[in-house]
Amino acid sequence: MAARTKSVGLTDAIPTQKCTDANCPFHGALKVRGKTFVGTVTSSKMQRSAIVEWEGRRLIPKFERYKRTRTKIAVHNPDCLNAREGDLVTVAECRPLSKTKSFVIIEVKGKKKRYALQKEALEEAKFKVKEESVTSEFAAKKTAEE
Ligand SMILES: [Zn+2]
Repeated sequence: MAARTKSVGLTDAIPTQKCTDANCPFHGALKVRGKTFVGTVTSSKMQRSAIVEWEGRRLIPKFERYKRTRTKIAVHNPDCLNAREGDLVTVAECRPLSKTKSFVIIEVKGKKKRYALQKEALEEAKFKVKEESVTSEFAAKKTAEE
């Protein structure tokens, strides 16, 4: 049932393609309401699903400094939008589509700038933390032995 394209009502962006996805906010029966966020797609290997991530910051009152936070959610990726890894997207809240999905992509804003570099830096940082903890454990053991 490739129905007419209806507007989501939150953005002016309307996909150029049509789809037969029943859970598409433009061509299906899915309604969106609630919160919207802008994030980057970090994985789109699943069928009609994607992982979207965005950064924020939270004040830690004791230290009067901000902690960087990272939010990662599973979202529905309709066929007509077909967002790929590295895309900057707008997601909107909808009814729960599965155990973990209650957001849907409503706009692809284009490629995120320097996504490959950021991904590389993040992976390197993860590796460094691991290495550090191993060496500190080793040092602790050494001092205990002495
Ligand atoms: Zn669609």
